[in-house]
Amino acid sequence: MTTTIPHWLSKQAEIAPDQTAVELTDGSYLTFKELQEKSQSYAKKLGTLGVVKGDHVGILSENSVPMMITIHALSYIGAVGVLLNVRLTASELNYQLNDADVSVLLVSASQQQRANELKVKMVVELTEIENNPESSVALQEEIQLDSLFTIMYTSGTTGFPKGVMHTYGNHWWSAIGSALNLGLHKEDKWLAALPLFHVSGFSILMRSAIYGMPVFLLEKFDVKTVQTAIFQKGVTILSVVTVMLQQLLEELGEKVYPEHFRCMLLGGGPAPQSLLQTTKGKGIPVFQSFGMTETASQIVTLSARDALEKVGSAGKALPPAQLRISRPDKDGIGEIWVKGPMVTNGYFKKEDATNKAMQEGWLATGDLGYVDEEGFLYVVERRTDLIISGGENIYPSEIESVLSAFTGVREVGVTGQVDPIWGSKPVAFLVVDDFITVDMIEKYAQEKLAAYKVPAAFHFVTSLPRNASNKLQRNKLLDLLN
Ligand code: ATP
Ligand code: MG
Repeated sequence: MTTTIPHWLSKQAEIAPDQTAVELTDGSYLTFKELQEKSQSYAKKLGTLGVVKGDHVGILSENSVPMMITIHALSYIGAVGVLLNVRLTASELNYQLNDADVSVLLVSASQQQRANELKVKMVVELTEIENNPESSVALQEEIQLDSLFTIMYTSGTTGFPKGVMHTYGNHWWSAIGSALNLGLHKEDKWLAALPLFHVSGFSILMRSAIYGMPVFLLEKFDVKTVQTAIFQKGVTILSVVTVMLQQLLEELGEKVYPEHFRCMLLGGGPAPQSLLQTTKGKGIPVFQSFGMTETASQIVTLSARDALEKVGSAGKALPPAQLRISRPDKDGIGEIWVKGPMVTNGYFKKEDATNKAMQEGWLATGDLGYVDEEGFLYVVERRTDLIISGGENIYPSEIESVLSAFTGVREVGVTGQVDPIWGSKPVAFLVVDDFITVDMIEKYAQEKLAAYKVPAAFHFVTSLPRNASNKLQRNKLLDLLN
């Protein structure tokens, strides 16, 4: 049976027409009623441009109100949004445009200059949609939860990015799961500084429409603007990745966040233990979480109740999701498997990859972790990054976490290098301040790490290989030696 619900934005426009739906730094805003009207009007105008139900429509844009309106407009048409990362090269974009069967591409003004390099039938600038007459296209007043709404590509940290298909139901349940964990406060305002083309940012839009909650939208992350929004604009929740949190901490200095600021949702990748201890010491409400594109954002999150007691843990599976560790080793570490209505049904046109990821109704995440005696998840490593040296498992992120705590070390990446005796040995690549020497780092590593974990070599480099999401690509570290 398919579950049908009223369109979530229309529902909020009916319940809370005058509530703010989106607010910008200059103080301008749109109410839910206005957002609904604009989105429906855009839907009809997109109809004039030839967009029909079922079309795959690419969106290549920095965060903006027109982008947000367009996303809702696609849901009123019943078209599928393919969200594209503006930091990708033309050839990377062409791969995704082709792979996702995109027929129309909607771009921001700044992306339009390179539109001629992109292989797609039609390119339209987002704000130009407005100038078209409205067509008589029939708008979707209801949402079928099992219909496809978006395709978003994984970050491509471990290989070619894969197009994750999300249904309306995946987004709906993701939003509900988050609310059941964090609760919903009357004064909530969620700041979106993460890109909307990633599920971490996109999911804030979904929560806004589903809860009837204002989103404070930033074009991009800027530490001072974010700080002002928290201190002066009533932002209560902020989603961040580790680098953002580090910058916010530096900017914060000795100040403390106001009482109304209740959640710093941290996700997207590992966070150094030292950073989490610092935020704990300062009383910053950091909620660590684990999730991936495939799970439509966070699926495991620490609750407020446990945030201070369980530093370093990603928490427990959100309701109504489940978590298990598949084939744990002697230390209890195994592959993290998750299951729940927010989890994708698979990758677009990639049956093999889908079959590999879907195991007995569970999603095999490819990440390794363990669960402590109270059921809290600790994410350890991607399975592909594990180094096996003389029969011992070595986790590069543990070594990175230790080395990054050394003053003067800016960035660290660790990977395995073939070794005739041990099979593989860890080697470290570091971006450091001028005063740091290999001897200093090696001595420190020997103090802090078991001998078999001490990197066999320390290479100083100017930068580490990162993908368009700024994630470390450990599988490309050894290329730095060529
Ligand atoms: P690809 O699948 O193309 O290699 P990706 O896995 O980096 O790219 P995303 O879906 O953006 O693409 O990222 C999800 C991954 O991020 C997770 O599988 C996990 O490896 C990592 N991650 C997310 N949350 C955490 C966390 N709390 N701790 C450690 N790693 C995390
Ligand atoms: Mg992945």
